[in-house]
Amino acid sequence: RAKSTSVSQALIFGIDMKDELTHSSQLLKDIRQSIVDQDFLIYLQPKLNRDETLIGAEALVRWQHPTRGLLNPAAFIDQAEESNFIVKIGKQVLMQVCEQLSLWQRSSETQHLTISVNLSAKQIWQSQFVDDFMLTVNSFDIDKSKLIVEVTETVLLQDIKDATEKMNRLKSHGITISLDDFGTGYSSLNYLHRLPIDEIKIDRSFINDFAEDEQVKLMVKSIVDLANNFGVNVVAEGVENIEQFDLLKEFNVDVYQGFFFSKPISLIEFERYLLT
Ligand code: C2E
Ligand code: MG
Ligand code: MG
Ligand code: MG
Repeated sequence: RAKSTSVSQALIFGIDMKDELTHSSQLLKDIRQSIVDQDFLIYLQPKLNRDETLIGAEALVRWQHPTRGLLNPAAFIDQAEESNFIVKIGKQVLMQVCEQLSLWQRSSETQHLTISVNLSAKQIWQSQFVDDFMLTVNSFDIDKSKLIVEVTETVLLQDIKDATEKMNRLKSHGITISLDDFGTGYSSLNYLHRLPIDEIKIDRSFINDFAEDEQVKLMVKSIVDLANNFGVNVVAEGVENIEQFDLLKEFNVDVYQGFFFSKPISLIEFERYLLT
């Protein structure tokens, strides 16, 4: 996406694209090599209930780049999607998520915890997506009800019938379906009744704005009420301060995630977090 914009800018403004193209082909080479070397790893961000009890975590991919250090998705996810490398990265992410679930499920203290994994549209559009996904999951001895997949509207927009069918199949295997970045697309509400959604995640842009903005506040409250009426679980992402947390509790949000509680942290840091 970013690339095509800058390509058209280059055409319009005559900017020399050579540097950027060299740069991005290097990035793709690096991604390819790092898939082989398994440099993609997961960080976990805690999800809590209104009592601030830990109920699970969202897995967020990080790239341990051989020379550039630890990279966030913003540095590579668009290119990984455009190139379809995200399909392979996504598989490695899913395996690490299942591995972590199987570890947690060996101990009575952590067996109730869930993990959410983000899915790219490119993964879901693969014709064998559900079979591949379940093959990976079933290669681990885990309680699948603790596995949540997060999808965005982008996934659904292209082919709602195909997406619905695939989500229904995942659900029939006991996987929980979450609609991420809820409210940012133009037809979010349309999906609430059409898709087998168990959970929505209110996008953090709303949470950011709402303390100062009565309109946004009303909107968030309406979204929560609507979801509750549909029996859909509500997660607020990007909770950064106590004012936001208090207000969201008033609105009866079920689950909370954000820097106020914890940033995404490594698996080792998460072990320590579990002890606190
Ligand atoms: P997302 O799924 O909406 O994830 C939430 C993002 O918000 C994460 O950014 C998280 O670090 C950030 N965040 C959480 N709490 C706060 C907060 O209180 N304040 C602020 N300012 N930010 C907060 P991150 O880890 O950089 O991931 C960005 C996006 O990359 C994700 O958005 C998701 O769309 C994508 N992504 C991450 N991991 C994966 C993955 O394994 N596969 C795929 N396909 N996409 C992924
Ligand atoms: Mg997410
Ligand atoms: Mg989100
Ligand atoms: Mg988001």
